[in-house]
Amino acid sequence: MSAAARLSSAAVRRALQVAAVEYAVHGWPVVPVSFFDGRNYVCVQADCFEQTLHPVWRLWHDRASADPKVVAAWFRMLTVSVGIRTGVVFDVVSLPEVAATRVQGVLEERRTPTPVAVWRERGRRLFWVARDLPWRPALGRLDARVSSRDGWVPAPPTPTRHGPVQWAVEPAQTEWGIVQHADFLAAAASVQ
Ligand SMILES: [Zn+2]
Repeated sequence: MSAAARLSSAAVRRALQVAAVEYAVHGWPVVPVSFFDGRNYVCVQADCFEQTLHPVWRLWHDRASADPKVVAAWFRMLTVSVGIRTGVVFDVVSLPEVAATRVQGVLEERRTPTPVAVWRERGRRLFWVARDLPWRPALGRLDARVSSRDGWVPAPPTPTRHGPVQWAVEPAQTEWGIVQHADFLAAAASVQ
């Protein structure tokens, strides 16, 4: 590996740590996930060769933490990316890119914005929504997937084969506020 590549890898790791600690400070439960090193997804388990993003611990649910000190230590000791446990503080709804940009536009128009991340590797955007979102047919028509209890999602700036997961709407833009069920479902229904 060249010195420049090592440097950029250190910068990426630093950016991941800063982001993870900021999520924890705001009460988001962080879970370390595999790290894309430019060629492969690397896990902390030596016998794991899973070539996707995944939590690096098999029993990770109870280890997800919103303690900034704990999270900072993980990212200092391990080469990992940022996952967020869902269903505890909020759910996360993923929508295919085209539907997602329309829903995002409606939420902004109606002044009920919420954090939105772009997961290019999956061709989807992730919407942070109040937890225990009830299922509605409008969600099915948009091919929505809800990550709730027992789930997790990657958070920016987690690197992937198709570039880093990025914010389309940063949490700071909504003052870390998260959209309520009725507002999200109304936006989803409006773009059918
Ligand atoms: Zn693994």
